[in-house]
Amino acid sequence: MQGRHFLQIPGPSPVPDRILRAIAMPVIDHRSAEFAELGRAVLEGCKTVFRTTQPVIIYPSSGTGAWEAAIVNTLSPGDTVLMAETGHFATLWRQIAAKFGIKVEFIPGDWRRGADPAAIGAKLAEDKAHRIKAVMVVHNETSTGATSRIAEIRQAIDAAGHPALFMVDTISSLASVDYRHDEWRVDVTVSGSQKGLMLPPGLGFNAISEKALTAAKRNTLPRSYWDWQEMLKINSTGFFPYTPATNLLYGLREAIAMLHEEGLENVFARHERLAAACRAAVKAWGLEILCEEPAEQSPVLTGVLMPTGHDADRFREVALRNYNISLGSGLGKVARKVFRIGHLGECNALTLLGALAGVEMALADAGVPHRTGGVMAAMASLQGNGGPRIEAV
Ligand code: PLP
Repeated sequence: MQGRHFLQIPGPSPVPDRILRAIAMPVIDHRSAEFAELGRAVLEGCKTVFRTTQPVIIYPSSGTGAWEAAIVNTLSPGDTVLMAETGHFATLWRQIAAKFGIKVEFIPGDWRRGADPAAIGAKLAEDKAHRIKAVMVVHNETSTGATSRIAEIRQAIDAAGHPALFMVDTISSLASVDYRHDEWRVDVTVSGSQKGLMLPPGLGFNAISEKALTAAKRNTLPRSYWDWQEMLKINSTGFFPYTPATNLLYGLREAIAMLHEEGLENVFARHERLAAACRAAVKAWGLEILCEEPAEQSPVLTGVLMPTGHDADRFREVALRNYNISLGSGLGKVARKVFRIGHLGECNALTLLGALAGVEMALADAGVPHRTGGVMAAMASLQGNGGPRIEAV
């Protein structure tokens, strides 16, 4: 089909040309002085995105590898952890923990909101013997479009006076939603390259605290590839203990530069603006947003419930065939009931409006009951919402 494909899934997100060009370099010797310069630049630069002065580990891996790394470096078989059922990705992280012999207390959820800080606080307050070794939360639940209030969960942990480690999955929130590893005293922040960082898939991250490093010296789960100690030792020279994803690191250096050129606060504000416009469109169509709690609706994606009797995957197929746009599918227990519109990373007002026009036309093509006017509502939202505009010439 002519024109650019609209990749409007909530990650992998489109890779800006500037990053593609940065990646399109000859592979260099990963044991050379030239590489060490790149290694040091990305290991230091990353910290500014996680908002930490502590170490960030970069794996050549998907986000799932970074999830596993957080577990095997800190926990021991038989340990108990506390998690919240925010959606499909929280469920998957729970399953990985279970495979390593970790007992998971899973606070049930209806997949329509973020983790409840009060429920986490109450569980911790009950745990007088401090059996719970970690609280593990997904910041932006990509399967539903609901964010969890990480600062409030930190407060709940503190209010309970509980020593559990705090581990947060920011795979789909980092560099799109306000996040502060140090200020919120998160012990392990897990992330990935293919969403807010605007890179192709292939890098996994663990930002780690002093407390997490201490836990890593005592825990008994075996690990080799994921071992933090070995990574940190070699990273201190700008190198990696095994062959790194050299060209993705070129891309990462460029992504960090782009994020700071725009300014992280502006990046977050842009995501908020686009998300508000997308929600205005969904409401105008008369469709329902999956996340019921307005304060937790994601700046990164919007999950939309299909009217009863209509299959979300069939609708997505029509949108792809007719307009060359990929929308996110429903995952896990909302499969076929939900589609997701990604508005993250390399996305601006007109990208979003193009995507919403595709959705609106595909709704009509697929015979999904809706009202027209979603794109107009999004335009009105963008114009009334402090976007970077020149008022008049
Ligand atoms: N956690 C969240 C919140 C995600 O969105 C994803 C992937 O979309 C993952 C974890 C898993 O990451 P990956 O698919 O890169 O292994």
